[in-house]
Amino acid sequence: MKEILVVGGAGYIGSFVVRALLDAGYKITVLDNLSSGHKEAIPSKVTLIEADLADEKVVRDVAKGKDAAMLFSGLINVGESVKEPWRYWKENVVKMILFLEVASEIKNIIFSSSAATYGVPQGELFETHELKPVNPYGETKLAIEKYLEHLTIAKSINAVALRYFNAAGGRADLGEDHKPETHLIPNVIKAGLEGRPVTIFGSDYETKDGTCVRDYIHVEDLADAHLRALTACLSAKIGFRPYNVGTGKGVSNLEVLKATEDVLNRKIECIMGERRAGDPPVLVANPNLIKKELSWEPKFTNIKDIISSAALWHKNHPNGYLA
Ligand code: UDP
Repeated sequence: MKEILVVGGAGYIGSFVVRALLDAGYKITVLDNLSSGHKEAIPSKVTLIEADLADEKVVRDVAKGKDAAMLFSGLINVGESVKEPWRYWKENVVKMILFLEVASEIKNIIFSSSAATYGVPQGELFETHELKPVNPYGETKLAIEKYLEHLTIAKSINAVALRYFNAAGGRADLGEDHKPETHLIPNVIKAGLEGRPVTIFGSDYETKDGTCVRDYIHVEDLADAHLRALTACLSAKIGFRPYNVGTGKGVSNLEVLKATEDVLNRKIECIMGERRAGDPPVLVANPNLIKKELSWEPKFTNIKDIISSAALWHKNHPNGYLA
């Protein structure tokens, strides 16, 4: 049985991937310092090591005998990264590099990268597009991608960087629980459920309706991409491979609002706020490479289905995992 180390497996995306790995028959160890993850999101048959990825002694021990590592840990908020870049460089880059050095016996790495590595895209977003982040979050993801690429050459390992577009969605027992929540879909759903307004950041972008456009990818489709990337790493020498993981469909912030109103069957008051620093106007994937090379295909391509699945979680867990 192949053994996988999942760093940050108690977080939103990690917890879905842990379920998918279990279903596929892998043995899993989760390493998570629970700074933002939730113990309750880890199934009982999974070993949870509660420690930081920069804890050398623990990492040396847990890395032993692992066939692959999946790296979900790190800070994830674009706006916050502009205000506190030092935290992003420390958590996402310094600690990750220390981890990779101590865990160097693991020869297959799947890294949670981001569409934020592209910056403000010009034309279609293939993986070969110029990487020019416009916020510290994207810079830190790009730094680790580059480092992994260098490692694959110097140490002959495999590394896949999955460039997530906007992860969203959930299921009745598992979902997004960030404190504070900064992401659009959970914020709109919660505003709808609690009967309060939501703020949309910026309405003067050069987009179809003036609000930013994103490509929402269901977390279960993301999990499937991880499984396929893992299979590719475990079956061949592939070196460094970056893949876009998105549906290829752009949805504006106002369209998210409208779709959520339809899903919840109620009006949601919206306040048009200032632009949020570091936000590219449009981020939409061309996902052809992952479709071709890993035979990946998203199951959720309709924004309302994605939002309904997330709403299921928020209705059942108004206080997240505390409920
Ligand atoms: N956004 C918003 N209101 C919110 C949260 C986010 O208008 O309460 C906007 C944000 O400025 C961006 C889009 O929604 O234009 C997606 O942001 P999110 O933080 O969900 O994901 P990101 O694209 O930053 O990874």
